[in-house]
Amino acid sequence: NLTVRLASRPEGEPTPENFAMAEESLPTPRDNELLLRTIYLSLDPYMRGRMSEAESYAAPVPVGGVMEGGTVCEVMAANTDMFDVGDIVLAHTGWQQYAVASDRVVRKIDPTRAPITTALGVLGMPGFTAYAGLLVIGDPKPSETVVVAAAAGPVGSAVGQIAQIKGARAVGIAGGPAKVEYLKKELGFEVALDHRSPDFVDALAAATPEGIDVYFENVGGAVFDAVLPRMNEFGRIPVCGLVSQYNATSLPDGPDRVPMLMSRILTKSLTVRGFIQREFVRAHYRDFQQDMAGWLTNGKVRYREDVVEGLENAPDAFVGMLRGDNFGKLMIKVGDD
Ligand code: NDP
Repeated sequence: NLTVRLASRPEGEPTPENFAMAEESLPTPRDNELLLRTIYLSLDPYMRGRMSEAESYAAPVPVGGVMEGGTVCEVMAANTDMFDVGDIVLAHTGWQQYAVASDRVVRKIDPTRAPITTALGVLGMPGFTAYAGLLVIGDPKPSETVVVAAAAGPVGSAVGQIAQIKGARAVGIAGGPAKVEYLKKELGFEVALDHRSPDFVDALAAATPEGIDVYFENVGGAVFDAVLPRMNEFGRIPVCGLVSQYNATSLPDGPDRVPMLMSRILTKSLTVRGFIQREFVRAHYRDFQQDMAGWLTNGKVRYREDVVEGLENAPDAFVGMLRGDNFGKLMIKVGDD
Protein backbone atom coordinates (compact mmCIF):
# COMPACT_ATOMS: atom_id res chain seq x y z
CA ASN A 1 0.00 0.00 0.00
CA LEU A 2 2.11 2.90 -1.29
CA THR A 3 1.37 5.96 0.85
CA VAL A 4 2.58 9.57 0.60
CA ARG A 5 2.89 11.44 3.89
CA LEU A 6 3.84 15.02 4.70
CA ALA A 7 7.46 14.74 5.88
CA SER A 8 8.04 18.42 6.66
CA ARG A 9 6.39 21.77 6.04
CA PRO A 10 7.63 23.57 2.90
CA GLU A 11 9.24 26.99 2.89
CA GLY A 12 8.14 28.46 -0.42
CA GLU A 13 7.79 25.98 -3.26
CA PRO A 14 7.50 22.38 -1.96
CA THR A 15 10.46 20.06 -2.62
CA PRO A 16 10.65 16.23 -2.76
CA GLU A 17 11.98 16.25 0.83
CA ASN A 18 8.62 17.56 2.05
CA PHE A 19 7.00 14.23 1.06
CA ALA A 20 7.71 10.75 2.46
CA MET A 21 6.75 7.75 0.35
CA ALA A 22 6.56 4.27 1.88
CA GLU A 23 4.94 0.86 1.43
CA GLU A 24 2.57 0.38 4.34
CA SER A 25 0.35 -2.50 5.43
CA LEU A 26 -3.24 -2.74 4.23
CA PRO A 27 -5.76 -1.28 6.68
CA THR A 28 -8.68 -3.44 7.88
CA PRO A 29 -12.24 -2.09 7.77
CA ARG A 30 -14.38 -2.33 10.91
CA ASP A 31 -18.18 -2.18 11.17
CA ASN A 32 -19.73 0.35 8.78
CA GLU A 33 -16.43 0.81 7.01
CA LEU A 34 -15.15 0.07 3.52
CA LEU A 35 -11.76 -0.94 2.20
CA LEU A 36 -11.13 1.26 -0.83
CA ARG A 37 -8.63 0.93 -3.69
CA THR A 38 -7.70 4.29 -5.19
CA ILE A 39 -8.10 4.57 -8.94
CA TYR A 40 -7.70 8.36 -9.37
CA LEU A 41 -6.34 10.95 -6.94
CA SER A 42 -7.22 14.60 -7.52
CA LEU A 43 -4.41 17.14 -7.14
CA ASP A 44 -5.69 20.61 -6.24
CA PRO A 45 -4.09 23.94 -5.35
CA TYR A 46 -5.71 23.94 -1.85
CA MET A 47 -3.33 21.13 -0.85
CA ARG A 48 -0.52 23.69 -0.63
CA GLY A 49 -2.50 25.32 2.20
CA ARG A 50 -2.88 22.00 4.00
CA MET A 51 0.92 21.56 3.95
CA SER A 52 1.33 24.80 5.84
CA GLU A 53 0.58 25.73 9.42
CA ALA A 54 -0.66 29.20 8.52
CA GLU A 55 -4.23 29.88 9.62
CA SER A 56 -6.77 28.79 7.01
CA TYR A 57 -10.33 27.56 6.64
CA ALA A 58 -9.31 23.92 7.29
CA ALA A 59 -6.83 22.26 9.64
CA PRO A 60 -3.39 21.49 8.17
CA VAL A 61 -2.22 17.94 7.49
CA PRO A 62 -0.07 17.09 10.53
CA VAL A 63 3.60 16.37 9.84
CA GLY A 64 3.67 12.59 9.38
CA GLY A 65 0.04 12.53 8.23
CA VAL A 66 -1.16 11.17 4.88
CA MET A 67 -1.48 13.93 2.27
CA GLU A 68 -5.14 14.83 1.89
CA GLY A 69 -7.09 14.60 -1.36
CA GLY A 70 -10.24 13.68 -3.19
CA THR A 71 -10.25 10.23 -4.79
CA VAL A 72 -12.24 7.91 -7.01
CA CYS A 73 -12.02 4.40 -5.59
CA GLU A 74 -13.27 0.86 -6.00
CA VAL A 75 -14.86 -0.83 -2.99
CA MET A 76 -12.76 -3.93 -2.19
CA ALA A 77 -14.52 -4.94 1.03
CA ALA A 78 -17.72 -3.59 2.58
CA ASN A 79 -18.76 -4.09 6.22
CA THR A 80 -22.03 -2.29 5.52
CA ASP A 81 -25.24 -2.79 3.50
CA MET A 82 -24.90 0.61 1.89
CA PHE A 83 -22.22 -0.44 -0.64
CA ASP A 84 -21.23 -3.54 -2.55
CA VAL A 85 -17.81 -4.84 -3.47
CA GLY A 86 -17.00 -3.45 -6.91
CA ASP A 87 -18.88 -0.16 -6.43
CA ILE A 88 -17.07 2.95 -7.65
CA VAL A 89 -17.17 5.76 -5.10
CA LEU A 90 -16.06 9.34 -4.60
CA ALA A 91 -14.02 9.55 -1.40
CA HIS A 92 -11.46 11.75 0.29
CA THR A 93 -8.86 9.15 1.13
CA GLY A 94 -5.75 11.08 0.11
CA TRP A 95 -2.43 10.12 -1.40
CA GLN A 96 -2.50 6.34 -0.87
CA GLN A 97 -3.27 3.21 -2.83
CA TYR A 98 -5.64 1.71 -0.27
CA ALA A 99 -7.60 3.23 2.59
CA VAL A 100 -10.46 2.57 4.96
CA ALA A 101 -13.40 4.98 5.02
CA SER A 102 -16.70 5.19 6.86
CA ASP A 103 -19.76 4.40 4.75
CA ARG A 104 -21.10 7.84 5.69
CA VAL A 105 -18.44 9.88 3.95
CA VAL A 106 -18.28 8.31 0.50
CA ARG A 107 -20.70 8.70 -2.39
CA LYS A 108 -21.50 6.19 -5.11
CA ILE A 109 -20.59 7.17 -8.68
CA ASP A 110 -22.51 5.77 -11.64
CA PRO A 111 -19.78 4.88 -14.17
CA THR A 112 -22.35 4.56 -16.96
CA ARG A 113 -23.36 8.25 -16.73
CA ALA A 114 -19.98 9.90 -17.31
CA PRO A 115 -16.29 8.95 -17.19
CA ILE A 116 -15.42 8.41 -13.51
CA THR A 117 -12.64 11.02 -13.70
CA THR A 118 -15.25 13.77 -14.10
CA ALA A 119 -16.29 13.25 -10.47
CA LEU A 120 -13.00 14.99 -9.56
CA GLY A 121 -13.30 17.73 -12.17
CA VAL A 122 -16.07 19.15 -14.27
CA LEU A 123 -18.85 17.23 -12.44
CA GLY A 124 -17.12 17.48 -9.06
CA MET A 125 -15.68 20.03 -6.66
CA PRO A 126 -13.90 22.28 -9.20
CA GLY A 127 -16.90 22.43 -11.52
CA PHE A 128 -19.15 23.23 -8.60
CA THR A 129 -16.76 25.93 -7.39
CA ALA A 130 -17.02 27.64 -10.76
CA TYR A 131 -20.80 27.27 -10.93
CA ALA A 132 -21.59 28.56 -7.46
CA GLY A 133 -18.93 31.26 -7.31
CA LEU A 134 -19.84 32.66 -10.70
CA LEU A 135 -23.63 32.43 -10.52
CA VAL A 136 -24.20 33.30 -6.86
CA ILE A 137 -21.53 35.98 -6.37
CA GLY A 138 -20.56 37.03 -9.91
CA ASP A 139 -24.15 37.01 -11.20
CA PRO A 140 -23.17 37.75 -14.83
CA LYS A 141 -25.77 39.50 -17.00
CA PRO A 142 -26.08 39.18 -20.79
CA SER A 143 -23.42 41.17 -22.65
CA GLU A 144 -21.42 41.88 -19.50
CA THR A 145 -17.68 41.14 -19.54
CA VAL A 146 -16.42 38.33 -17.29
CA VAL A 147 -12.67 37.88 -16.85
CA VAL A 148 -11.14 34.73 -15.38
CA ALA A 149 -7.53 33.57 -15.00
CA ALA A 150 -6.20 30.01 -14.64
CA ALA A 151 -8.77 29.74 -17.42
CA ALA A 152 -7.49 26.45 -18.85
CA GLY A 153 -7.84 24.73 -15.45
CA PRO A 154 -10.98 23.02 -14.18
CA VAL A 155 -12.37 26.00 -12.27
CA GLY A 156 -11.51 28.73 -14.78
CA SER A 157 -12.58 26.80 -17.88
CA ALA A 158 -16.01 26.15 -16.36
CA VAL A 159 -16.32 29.79 -15.26
CA GLY A 160 -15.73 31.09 -18.78
CA GLN A 161 -18.05 28.61 -20.43
CA ILE A 162 -20.88 29.14 -17.92
CA ALA A 163 -20.46 32.90 -18.34
CA GLN A 164 -20.98 32.50 -22.09
CA ILE A 165 -23.99 30.23 -21.55
CA LYS A 166 -25.48 33.11 -19.53
CA GLY A 167 -24.87 35.47 -22.44
CA ALA A 168 -21.82 37.26 -21.04
CA ARG A 169 -18.50 37.80 -22.89
CA ALA A 170 -15.77 35.58 -21.46
CA VAL A 171 -12.18 36.80 -21.44
CA GLY A 172 -9.83 34.02 -20.36
CA ILE A 173 -6.29 34.47 -19.07
CA ALA A 174 -3.80 31.59 -19.13
CA GLY A 175 -0.08 30.89 -19.26
CA GLY A 176 1.42 30.25 -22.69
CA PRO A 177 0.25 30.06 -26.32
CA ALA A 178 -1.03 26.46 -26.20
CA LYS A 179 -3.52 27.22 -23.42
CA VAL A 180 -4.55 30.50 -25.07
CA GLU A 181 -5.20 28.66 -28.34
CA TYR A 182 -7.22 26.00 -26.52
CA LEU A 183 -9.45 28.61 -24.84
CA LYS A 184 -10.25 30.26 -28.15
CA LYS A 185 -10.49 27.23 -30.44
CA GLU A 186 -11.85 24.50 -28.19
CA LEU A 187 -13.79 26.34 -25.51
CA GLY A 188 -15.03 29.29 -27.56
CA PHE A 189 -13.84 32.06 -25.23
CA GLU A 190 -14.35 35.36 -27.03
CA VAL A 191 -10.84 36.47 -26.11
CA ALA A 192 -7.91 34.66 -24.50
CA LEU A 193 -4.73 36.31 -23.23
CA ASP A 194 -1.33 35.10 -22.06
CA HIS A 195 -0.49 36.57 -18.64
CA ARG A 196 3.21 35.90 -19.29
CA SER A 197 3.25 38.00 -22.45
CA PRO A 198 5.09 41.36 -22.06
CA ASP A 199 2.13 43.30 -23.45
CA PHE A 200 -0.43 41.57 -21.20
CA VAL A 201 -1.65 44.77 -19.51
CA ASP A 202 -2.30 46.50 -22.85
CA ALA A 203 -3.86 43.37 -24.31
CA LEU A 204 -6.26 43.18 -21.36
CA ALA A 205 -7.24 46.80 -21.91
CA ALA A 206 -7.85 46.15 -25.61
CA ALA A 207 -9.89 43.04 -24.80
CA THR A 208 -12.14 44.88 -22.34
CA PRO A 209 -13.06 48.13 -24.12
CA GLU A 210 -16.18 48.48 -21.97
CA GLY A 211 -14.43 47.55 -18.74
CA ILE A 212 -14.89 44.45 -16.59
CA ASP A 213 -18.14 43.60 -14.80
CA VAL A 214 -17.12 40.34 -13.16
CA TYR A 215 -13.59 39.28 -12.30
CA PHE A 216 -13.51 35.70 -11.06
CA GLU A 217 -10.34 35.76 -8.95
CA ASN A 218 -8.32 32.53 -9.14
CA VAL A 219 -4.75 33.80 -9.08
CA GLY A 220 -4.09 37.23 -7.49
CA GLY A 221 -0.73 38.92 -8.05
CA ALA A 222 0.05 40.69 -11.31
CA VAL A 223 -3.20 39.59 -12.99
CA PHE A 224 -5.26 41.23 -10.25
CA ASP A 225 -3.17 44.39 -10.55
CA ALA A 226 -3.99 44.56 -14.26
CA VAL A 227 -7.69 43.86 -13.75
CA LEU A 228 -8.50 46.20 -10.85
CA PRO A 229 -8.25 49.53 -12.70
CA ARG A 230 -10.59 48.16 -15.38
CA MET A 231 -13.44 47.17 -13.04
CA ASN A 232 -16.75 48.86 -13.84
CA GLU A 233 -19.07 50.48 -11.36
CA PHE A 234 -20.99 47.81 -9.40
CA GLY A 235 -18.49 45.16 -10.56
CA ARG A 236 -18.35 41.85 -8.70
CA ILE A 237 -15.21 39.97 -7.70
CA PRO A 238 -15.79 36.44 -6.40
CA VAL A 239 -12.49 35.66 -4.65
CA CYS A 240 -12.02 31.95 -5.24
CA GLY A 241 -8.26 31.45 -5.07
CA LEU A 242 -4.89 33.22 -5.11
CA VAL A 243 -2.69 30.52 -6.56
CA SER A 244 0.10 32.93 -7.56
CA GLN A 245 0.63 33.56 -3.84
CA TYR A 246 0.47 30.05 -2.39
CA ASN A 247 4.24 29.54 -2.33
CA ALA A 248 5.01 33.10 -1.23
CA THR A 249 7.08 33.48 1.92
CA SER A 250 6.76 37.24 2.30
CA LEU A 251 4.67 40.17 1.14
CA PRO A 252 5.51 41.56 -2.32
CA ASP A 253 7.94 44.47 -2.64
CA GLY A 254 6.73 47.97 -3.23
CA PRO A 255 4.41 50.47 -1.62
CA ASP A 256 1.37 49.50 0.45
CA ARG A 257 -1.43 49.19 -2.09
CA VAL A 258 -4.28 48.57 0.33
CA PRO A 259 -5.40 52.24 0.37
CA MET A 260 -5.59 52.23 -3.45
CA LEU A 261 -7.54 48.97 -3.40
CA MET A 262 -9.99 50.25 -0.81
CA SER A 263 -10.44 53.46 -2.71
CA ARG A 264 -11.31 51.52 -5.88
CA ILE A 265 -13.79 49.35 -3.97
CA LEU A 266 -15.41 52.50 -2.61
CA THR A 267 -15.49 54.70 -5.68
CA LYS A 268 -16.58 51.90 -8.06
CA SER A 269 -19.03 50.35 -5.58
CA LEU A 270 -17.36 46.96 -6.04
CA THR A 271 -18.47 43.76 -4.34
CA VAL A 272 -15.44 41.69 -3.33
CA ARG A 273 -16.59 38.44 -1.78
CA GLY A 274 -14.43 35.45 -0.81
CA PHE A 275 -15.93 31.98 -0.64
CA ILE A 276 -15.16 28.33 -0.01
CA GLN A 277 -17.33 26.19 -2.26
CA ARG A 278 -18.74 24.02 0.51
CA GLU A 279 -20.83 26.92 1.85
CA PHE A 280 -22.98 26.60 -1.29
CA VAL A 281 -23.36 22.82 -1.38
CA ARG A 282 -26.67 22.58 0.42
CA ALA A 283 -28.38 25.26 -1.64
CA HIS A 284 -26.87 24.73 -5.07
CA TYR A 285 -25.27 21.27 -5.56
CA ARG A 286 -28.36 19.59 -6.96
CA ASP A 287 -28.90 22.35 -9.55
CA PHE A 288 -25.23 22.22 -10.44
CA GLN A 289 -25.34 18.51 -11.15
CA GLN A 290 -28.41 18.85 -13.31
CA ASP A 291 -27.21 21.92 -15.23
CA MET A 292 -23.67 20.68 -15.74
CA ALA A 293 -24.78 17.23 -16.91
CA GLY A 294 -27.05 18.96 -19.44
CA TRP A 295 -24.31 21.29 -20.66
CA LEU A 296 -21.93 18.36 -21.11
CA THR A 297 -24.54 16.45 -23.07
CA ASN A 298 -25.38 19.35 -25.37
CA GLY A 299 -21.71 20.28 -25.79
CA LYS A 300 -21.98 23.75 -24.23
CA VAL A 301 -19.35 22.82 -21.67
CA ARG A 302 -16.18 20.97 -22.62
CA TYR A 303 -13.38 19.91 -20.33
CA ARG A 304 -9.84 18.69 -20.40
CA GLU A 305 -8.05 16.39 -17.98
CA ASP A 306 -4.33 16.01 -17.34
CA VAL A 307 -3.80 12.48 -16.04
CA VAL A 308 -0.37 11.53 -14.67
CA GLU A 309 0.38 7.82 -14.18
CA GLY A 310 1.60 6.52 -10.82
CA LEU A 311 1.25 7.76 -7.24
CA GLU A 312 5.04 8.10 -7.00
CA ASN A 313 4.76 11.02 -9.45
CA ALA A 314 2.23 12.94 -7.35
CA PRO A 315 4.70 15.29 -5.58
CA ASP A 316 6.29 16.49 -8.84
CA ALA A 317 2.94 16.85 -10.58
CA PHE A 318 1.56 18.83 -7.64
CA VAL A 319 4.49 21.25 -7.50
CA GLY A 320 4.29 21.66 -11.29
CA MET A 321 0.61 22.56 -11.10
CA LEU A 322 1.32 25.56 -8.87
CA ARG A 323 3.64 26.80 -11.65
CA GLY A 324 1.15 26.10 -14.44
CA ASP A 325 2.67 22.90 -15.85
CA ASN A 326 -0.72 21.16 -15.87
CA PHE A 327 -3.05 21.53 -18.82
CA GLY A 328 -6.54 20.69 -17.60
CA LYS A 329 -7.80 19.05 -14.41
CA LEU A 330 -4.75 17.42 -12.85
CA MET A 331 -5.12 13.95 -11.38
CA ILE A 332 -2.99 10.92 -10.70
CA LYS A 333 -3.93 7.51 -12.03
CA VAL A 334 -3.09 5.43 -8.98
CA GLY A 335 -4.52 2.07 -10.06
CA ASP A 336 -6.33 0.31 -12.91
CA ASP A 337 -9.83 1.46 -13.76
P1 NDP B 1 -5.62 24.84 -12.08
O1 NDP B 1 -5.63 23.48 -12.67
O2 NDP B 1 -6.12 25.97 -12.89
O3 NDP B 1 -4.12 25.08 -11.63
C1 NDP B 1 -3.65 26.28 -11.17
C2 NDP B 1 -3.25 27.19 -12.34
O4 NDP B 1 -2.93 28.47 -11.83
C3 NDP B 1 -2.00 26.78 -13.07
O5 NDP B 1 -2.24 25.77 -14.02
C4 NDP B 1 -1.58 28.10 -13.71
O6 NDP B 1 -2.21 28.19 -14.98
C5 NDP B 1 -2.21 29.15 -12.81
N1 NDP B 1 -1.17 29.98 -12.19
C6 NDP B 1 -0.17 29.58 -11.38
N2 NDP B 1 0.60 30.62 -11.03
C7 NDP B 1 0.08 31.71 -11.65
C8 NDP B 1 0.42 33.09 -11.70
N3 NDP B 1 1.49 33.57 -11.03
N4 NDP B 1 -0.35 33.92 -12.42
C9 NDP B 1 -1.41 33.47 -13.11
N5 NDP B 1 -1.79 32.17 -13.11
C10 NDP B 1 -1.05 31.30 -12.39
O7 NDP B 1 -6.38 24.84 -10.66
P2 NDP B 1 -7.93 24.80 -10.26
O8 NDP B 1 -8.80 25.10 -11.42
O9 NDP B 1 -8.15 23.55 -9.50
O10 NDP B 1 -8.03 26.00 -9.21
C11 NDP B 1 -8.06 27.35 -9.65
C12 NDP B 1 -8.16 28.25 -8.42
O11 NDP B 1 -9.37 27.99 -7.72
C13 NDP B 1 -7.05 28.07 -7.40
O12 NDP B 1 -6.69 29.33 -6.89
C14 NDP B 1 -7.70 27.25 -6.31
O13 NDP B 1 -7.08 27.42 -5.07
C15 NDP B 1 -9.10 27.81 -6.35
N6 NDP B 1 -10.14 26.95 -5.79
C16 NDP B 1 -10.94 27.49 -4.80
C17 NDP B 1 -11.98 26.78 -4.26
C18 NDP B 1 -12.86 27.45 -3.26
O14 NDP B 1 -13.75 26.78 -2.71
N7 NDP B 1 -12.68 28.73 -2.99
C19 NDP B 1 -12.24 25.39 -4.67
C20 NDP B 1 -11.37 24.93 -5.76
C21 NDP B 1 -10.35 25.69 -6.27
P3 NDP B 1 -1.55 29.06 -16.18
O15 NDP B 1 -0.58 28.16 -16.86
O16 NDP B 1 -2.74 29.39 -17.01
O17 NDP B 1 -0.89 30.25 -15.58
